[in-house]
Amino acid sequence: MSDLELKQNLDTPFVIKGDDKTVARITDMINQIAVSETGKQTLEIASKAGYSLGMEFAFGCNGGCSKDNKVIILNPVSQDDVLVGVLAHECRHAGQFERGEYDASDDKRPRQETLMTNIMRTRAVEADAQATAAQILGEMMEAGNPQPLMAFCRQPDNQYIGSAFNRALYNENSLNDGSARTAAFLAWYENKPVLKAYDEAYQVEMMERREKSGENKKDTYQKIQSPEKIVSDLCVNNDGSCYFKEDPQILATEKYTAVDYGTQLKLNQLMDNVPNKTKNIALMKKMSKTR
Ligand SMILES: [Zn+2]
Repeated sequence: MSDLELKQNLDTPFVIKGDDKTVARITDMINQIAVSETGKQTLEIASKAGYSLGMEFAFGCNGGCSKDNKVIILNPVSQDDVLVGVLAHECRHAGQFERGEYDASDDKRPRQETLMTNIMRTRAVEADAQATAAQILGEMMEAGNPQPLMAFCRQPDNQYIGSAFNRALYNENSLNDGSARTAAFLAWYENKPVLKAYDEAYQVEMMERREKSGENKKDTYQKIQSPEKIVSDLCVNNDGSCYFKEDPQILATEKYTAVDYGTQLKLNQLMDNVPNKTKNIALMKKMSKTR
């Protein structure tokens, strides 16, 4: 393997853990992404923050990003064309963490925000990571490398995002003015099984674990975050400007806040056992009624 093949086209290269084959595979993905300006910046935010890259088999999962360990892993079983999009997505999570986002799978974190805020925020975190991946893959396509975007769109979970993003690309300048990325962001909410899986993992399971350890006594579920705040915190270009082209209030509407009925029953039950819950259900209802 020559050094040239292992050179990352980044100002701050990643530490890549693994054998020569793994290093070569990941380096090739990095260099594909680095052709996109958004992609290069997104990767460098993660590499500068000290995230390392590696491969690890994970059942039913293409990759992951650990805030505590500063590690991004990719599933070696998935195709490289798919993993390019996954690497972009996971590096965006690293950037979110660097900007102060909490880790939604951290059951040690007291839950001070209303349930509706928790739901809106964790959903927007995922929607932003996928919309950013689509944006990066779109820029790569413009630069002559369409395969990773095609592979992304063919993933069964990405079909709504893929078609919304591709439709948006027919409008001139949509890749540069944020509108294609916004379309991808909003389409993330159309995949109901994915929404349900995230709500179960980030709300139900976290609340169950806090109930089991007794830490739910510290939870207040009182702070409300407006959709404007969630959008201005999360939907940022790498220069800090906002890419979101719709009225942020859209995220507080029924379409974007509806929770699967079975999940709702579990959440109500868990909320009943939180000592400080009283006012919060009223707040939650008030919140869900805004527009
Ligand atoms: Zn994610």
